Amino acid sequence: MATLIVTPTSRSIRERSAQLRERDGFLPRLMRMDEFLSRLALVPGRAMIQGSQRILRLREAAEFEGFGRLQKDRGLIRFFARSDDFFRFFEELAWEKVPLERLEEADAYAEYGEHLSVLKELRRRYGARLEAEGFTDRMFLPEHYRFDEAFATRYDRIELHLEGYLSRFEMELLSETAKRSELIVHWRTTPFNEKMRRRFAEEVGIELPEESRLSFSWSQGEILEAERVPLEIASRVLAVEERYEQVALALAEIEGMVRRGIAPERIALVLPREEFASVFDLYDRMGNLNFSMGFDLRSRPEYRIPAAMLAWWQSGEEEDREWLQRLGGAQAVKLSSSRLMDVDEFFSMMSEEGALPGFASEEIPRKRSREADAIDEIRERFVRLHRREKLATREWLFLWIRELEALRLDDVRGGKVTVMGVLETRGVAFDGVVIVDFNEGVVPAQTGKDRFLDSRVRRFAGLPDRQDREALQKHYYARLLEQAREGAILYALGDNRLPSRFLYELGLGDGERVAAPRELLYRSAPLPAVSGDPEVTDFDPTSMIWSASRLQCWLECRRKFYYRYIAGLKEKPDEGINEGQVLHRILDELYRERTHFEEEAQMRRALEETAGRFLASEEVRGLYLGAYWTKVLQDFVRKEIHHFAQGWRVERREMPVEGEIAGLRFTGRVDRLDRQGDNYLALDYKSGSIAASNRQSSLEKLTDFQMSIYARLLRPRYPDLDLAYVPILDGGGYVPPTVPEEKEALLLEHLEALGGTRAFVAQKTDELSRCRYCPYQLLCERGEYL
Ligand code: SF4
Repeated sequence: MATLIVTPTSRSIRERSAQLRERDGFLPRLMRMDEFLSRLALVPGRAMIQGSQRILRLREAAEFEGFGRLQKDRGLIRFFARSDDFFRFFEELAWEKVPLERLEEADAYAEYGEHLSVLKELRRRYGARLEAEGFTDRMFLPEHYRFDEAFATRYDRIELHLEGYLSRFEMELLSETAKRSELIVHWRTTPFNEKMRRRFAEEVGIELPEESRLSFSWSQGEILEAERVPLEIASRVLAVEERYEQVALALAEIEGMVRRGIAPERIALVLPREEFASVFDLYDRMGNLNFSMGFDLRSRPEYRIPAAMLAWWQSGEEEDREWLQRLGGAQAVKLSSSRLMDVDEFFSMMSEEGALPGFASEEIPRKRSREADAIDEIRERFVRLHRREKLATREWLFLWIRELEALRLDDVRGGKVTVMGVLETRGVAFDGVVIVDFNEGVVPAQTGKDRFLDSRVRRFAGLPDRQDREALQKHYYARLLEQAREGAILYALGDNRLPSRFLYELGLGDGERVAAPRELLYRSAPLPAVSGDPEVTDFDPTSMIWSASRLQCWLECRRKFYYRYIAGLKEKPDEGINEGQVLHRILDELYRERTHFEEEAQMRRALEETAGRFLASEEVRGLYLGAYWTKVLQDFVRKEIHHFAQGWRVERREMPVEGEIAGLRFTGRVDRLDRQGDNYLALDYKSGSIAASNRQSSLEKLTDFQMSIYARLLRPRYPDLDLAYVPILDGGGYVPPTVPEEKEALLLEHLEALGGTRAFVAQKTDELSRCRYCPYQLLCERGEYL
């Protein structure tokens, strides 16, 4: 007898196939649920539209007058972000077999009917576009499909291990299947899948018992087996203060389970928020974990540079531009974001400008890596899909970043304990289960706001609502925990977090407060535990040596000042090339042997040679930077030659300065001091923007007082002193500080207040933008610290 076994996930197929191999006889065919359903529904002569192609077609379909009434932006980037709303809406209605007209009766709000007619038109236009190109979309499947008789009759018996929810369309496909072969469903009813139980009663006419393990024949409409098993969960519940303490505690719980005899292969660590995986990866020094969700590219230059570039194009903020430059994408800042081009031109232009690392030109050697291969593969598909489009550079960049975000590389390191998200646990059982982040709002995850269907309309149309969706997640957690020999549920309380109320539904209640074994995480002494804002009660600013950067840190964030200068936490050294620092060193070296240059060509040659020496060890990135600097430093060279022609000579380089200002001791290092007779000019090289440092309005926001400090320290020795910024990569030249007197007066005000400070509370800054590039994000749980 030909038998097919259908299970929810690939993992559950692997597990079931391992169990079946231990028995005698032929192995039945195994198939994943989504594949099974898609095999039943054919759309002859049409291909399923994919990925970002869907969004581009939907946006084209939105080019009609009435669309504006939905108040949705048609600009691609905004449209893309919102397109999920449309697809979810259309698809859900289609798969639940609810016609749009039915919603008109819901009497939701005054303009609802009008909005529905716009949505109807959008759907019609989108369908017509797809049809013209020989495509279809999941949202049209229930109306376009042809049931695949041949496939459904290929098996005498189909056994379906059901975990999730079935839409009306899916039930229709299964009902058709049940007419053609014996369809057996194995299922577990819990208090959390009541809706599905009712649906079986209404749509299939079969009353299934509550809280039971059961099998029934869909074909015969009869229950084959049913055992009443009330849900019983006996897991430990543990609470810690900080979210990150859960990492140590989870590792300790896993260790305990292994000691008590559970094989590590039979233990799952479940992450309701999968982004937490990178933190576990960081601390898994022994390689015990395997991450079934794989790894993304977000920490790699292939993703970070284009993402930084898009962030800068979207915000126009100087700090975003600086971040892009710091990442090594400086040469890309000059590109136009709005120029229309095709996909090939986009890739070749962006890679030439160094904005897409991983697409180096053929002459530049590059090491092949798993990442490079995977990126090449998605690029080929991307180019194929979008061959006929013409989009603005920023739109291409946006679409490309979305592709990179979706890319996951398998974890091939072979740790024995599996780390997974909750959806992957469907259909599998583990002996040991550890779940972290069991907090309110996380377990179950709150579903996003539905823009077109509020709960009243959903109920009216018989669509699953928020409670139904949350109940389904609860069912998955409950199934996983009830099958485990040992379970540990962890949550954190810091930052006003609450334990999930679901704990009470599981009959477990609040957790035991425990101290996480932090020593598991660190090779050396653990990080200082920071709960609440640290207070510094014996602060003496007069006993410290101050600098412009220390003062800036003090003014920008007391917590950062505390970490860096009181607790002495060292920053992780920058692994890549720091463009600004290298440029400073190159210019220092350039003027080591000579006080000036007379000709541009001579200076350019000397500059190229010096840069070549500094960048020789930096392989590909060095070649890029060398080539880029040669191009952008031309203006800088021209203005230097003009400056020297007026008699200026380099007098000092990297000149140390020190002295007292308002009773506080200051030191610093001036990049360069030039002299012309009795005139002196102190220069500060800037590789990034000078806009924030050299602001002339909103001075209350100024935190960089470097020029004012240098002015006060140098003036006693050089009464005829001028100061200037040199924007090396931005055309060169000598830009004097704006409103210097006002800035000096403000500096003195700050120093007076600082000088009188003897205690302070190390509060985190209110300006979250300052956290964005701060090295202490992890400690503060701010910014993109993951
Ligand atoms: S992350 Fe933000 S709050 Fe924390 S130290 Fe840095 S700047 Fe301050």
